[in-house]
Amino acid sequence: MATAPEKTQDSVDVSLFAGLDAPDESELYKCVHCGFCLQACPTYVETGLEAESPRGRIALMKAVNEGRIGITDSVMQHWDLCIQCRACEVACPSGVPYGSLIEATMQQVADRRKPGFINGKIASLALKRLLPKQGWLSMVVGGMRLYQRSGLQKVVRKSGLLGAMPGNLDELEGSLPALPSEVFRARGQVYPPQGERKARVALLSGCVMPLVNGPQMNAVVRVLTRNGCEVVVTQAQVCCGAINSHVGDLDTARQLARRNIDAFLAEDADFIAVASAGCGARMKEYGHLLRNDVAYSDRASELSGKVRDIHELLVALPIEPPKGHLPYRVTYQDSCHLANAQRVTEAPRQLLRSIPGIEYIPLPNADKCCGAGGTYTITEREFSMRVLDTKMSAVRQTQADIIATANPGCLMQLQYGAQREGMPIEARYITDLLDEAYMKESESA
Ligand code: SF4
Ligand code: SF4
Repeated sequence: MATAPEKTQDSVDVSLFAGLDAPDESELYKCVHCGFCLQACPTYVETGLEAESPRGRIALMKAVNEGRIGITDSVMQHWDLCIQCRACEVACPSGVPYGSLIEATMQQVADRRKPGFINGKIASLALKRLLPKQGWLSMVVGGMRLYQRSGLQKVVRKSGLLGAMPGNLDELEGSLPALPSEVFRARGQVYPPQGERKARVALLSGCVMPLVNGPQMNAVVRVLTRNGCEVVVTQAQVCCGAINSHVGDLDTARQLARRNIDAFLAEDADFIAVASAGCGARMKEYGHLLRNDVAYSDRASELSGKVRDIHELLVALPIEPPKGHLPYRVTYQDSCHLANAQRVTEAPRQLLRSIPGIEYIPLPNADKCCGAGGTYTITEREFSMRVLDTKMSAVRQTQADIIATANPGCLMQLQYGAQREGMPIEARYITDLLDEAYMKESESA
């Protein structure tokens, strides 16, 4: 392993990494520039540019760390274009923990970015005020639901008003999914298991998912209770902090993590189940996030040890395979935060194959990112759509009726991809399909 050279701060423009959250040198200098990660990286594959590859981004981190270059706007752009899919981490033979390096780097970037109106005031309001406060977020989503249902959306779309506004507001509005009236709320409720209790499971409700995927969250509860789990939805829980981490706001992410640690450990559950891959990845890494927090580091690791992605938990229980028949052709897109960060790839496929009637069709390059990822579809819209186009061409080849996935960001992105391409394919969660199969079973009993 290479070691870090002496730092030279030779110009007033040079801004070195600083503080406890700076990228860890022992991790940074594990990279030996072999390039095995290049073809795994969606931004490198799309552009062919070294600076848009994991190796290039790490070289920039090293250059900043050594004081050879500063954290300039152009340097930041190469890091901003990283989707944080962590496919490079899986491909790397030297064990470079790219996820923690880019997370630390984005924190350094966030501290130095000159805030504009969108990435300053609005982003700060959304990240520091809205996401941590479920009540406020619920009001905003409620307003959007009213906008969709009242007919105002049709009027606005017809008027072409959004197209005349700066940025890509019209495209973002077009990708907004239809918001259901059924929402999922964390009220401290406890759902009893069917039959003998196999485990007590505390369920992460999340921030956006219970508001945009309420029916799907209720399906998760039904599948768990159907398989002997007592499910508790602690009221004191908050957003997991994944989106804040993605944009480098580690202080807010840590505040949220501490509140979740207090809330979930008080439940004395066997497992903490997470139905969103991005949130599961964040919570499994609370130990790392709070490594310098004397009061919380041990409890953070304790919590992380209890976190299970919903698919790995269901397979481990194990579930009773449903008997209801679903006549669907289904393909599966790996969510990066499930496959690359949590290394869970087989459990979702195993669950799909356990449903009678489902024809499972492997998706070519299922392990390649769909272009979602934190706020990426908003902040790097053009590139996100390029990556999505590549994904949808692969999806088209499968001729499936349903594309299953494991993360709300991926679900929305794939739904939008199908809509854009006019493809007759529906994006769904595997737990939704399991729930439907169990429903059919009880209808025919
Ligand atoms: S996280 Fe994904 S997009 Fe970023 S460098 Fe690694 S492979 Fe490329
Ligand atoms: S990140 Fe890993 S695979 Fe990529 S260049 Fe560095 S050592 Fe090689």
